[in-house]
Amino acid sequence: MGDTCGAVLRCRARMKIKESGINLLAGDLVEVNVSDGVIEKVYPRKNSIIRPPVANIDQVVILMSVSKPPIDLVLLDRLLISVESLKIDVILCLNKMDLINDLQKERAEEIRETYENCGYRIFYTSAVTGQGVHQLETFLKNKVNVFAGPSGVGKSTLINRIKPGLQLKSAPVSLKTERGRHTTRHVELLMIEKATFIVDTPGFQKLDLKGFSSRELSSCFPEIISFAGSCRFTGCMHRAEPDCRVKEAVQRGKIAPWRYNHYLMFLQEIQQAEKKF
Ligand code: GDP
Ligand code: ZN
Repeated sequence: MGDTCGAVLRCRARMKIKESGINLLAGDLVEVNVSDGVIEKVYPRKNSIIRPPVANIDQVVILMSVSKPPIDLVLLDRLLISVESLKIDVILCLNKMDLINDLQKERAEEIRETYENCGYRIFYTSAVTGQGVHQLETFLKNKVNVFAGPSGVGKSTLINRIKPGLQLKSAPVSLKTERGRHTTRHVELLMIEKATFIVDTPGFQKLDLKGFSSRELSSCFPEIISFAGSCRFTGCMHRAEPDCRVKEAVQRGKIAPWRYNHYLMFLQEIQQAEKKF
């Protein structure tokens, strides 16, 4: 055994690893025999996700653009709750700030305030002017960061800005749909610094909520958690029940209506899926 000293090795897994049914993932920590490139051992993972296939993630960065394409809050919340359910740290990034107009700026501020009140860190960036990029970078240090978000929001461009020379392909957003084409296919840990990595993922488009239970869903909305404790019924789903503090909080403007609506929408999806089984 030895240290690869930063060199990239082409490796294959020892038969016993293959036979044990372990599928190696990007991000796996392994012991490798540097002389013949055979992987002898795969260390236990602290987490892993299937789509994209990555292990040992420290943080997910959810990227949306403020314009072209406009922010998709349903997708943002879908991504957020799927990361929450995995108990992985998450930060949010609103990119293409150079394209923002006054109306969009007001909306972006409202969005920022809402998510900050839920306890999330949210950055404004422009991969073109460099606005906010340095600040974002300081939060990526010494972590395996997975960049997630729909295609066309600027993930590859932002990564190129953070680490020029990686030569990631970026594709112009098609004028007709304002959605980018898929240019990111295989999964790779891009080394930014010695212990800092970014995984650029193929655009998440249709994230479903398979495997979620209705109870688990409410625990993925921090603002619902903070009011749910005082609802009249212990098993309150915060939908049609009387004396629901969550619904009250929505009416009093303490919970953003779109977040509550997304909760209801996801709840319905989950309950419909539960009925099928
Ligand atoms: P990805 O699919 O998320 O990786 O998006 P890309 O990085 O391929 O970017 C899609 C398009 O948006 C490209 O034409 C980029 O040049 C453009 N783009 C990316 N970031 C910005 C930004 O901050 N401002 C502006 N104006 N354009 C951007
Ligand atoms: Zn309730």
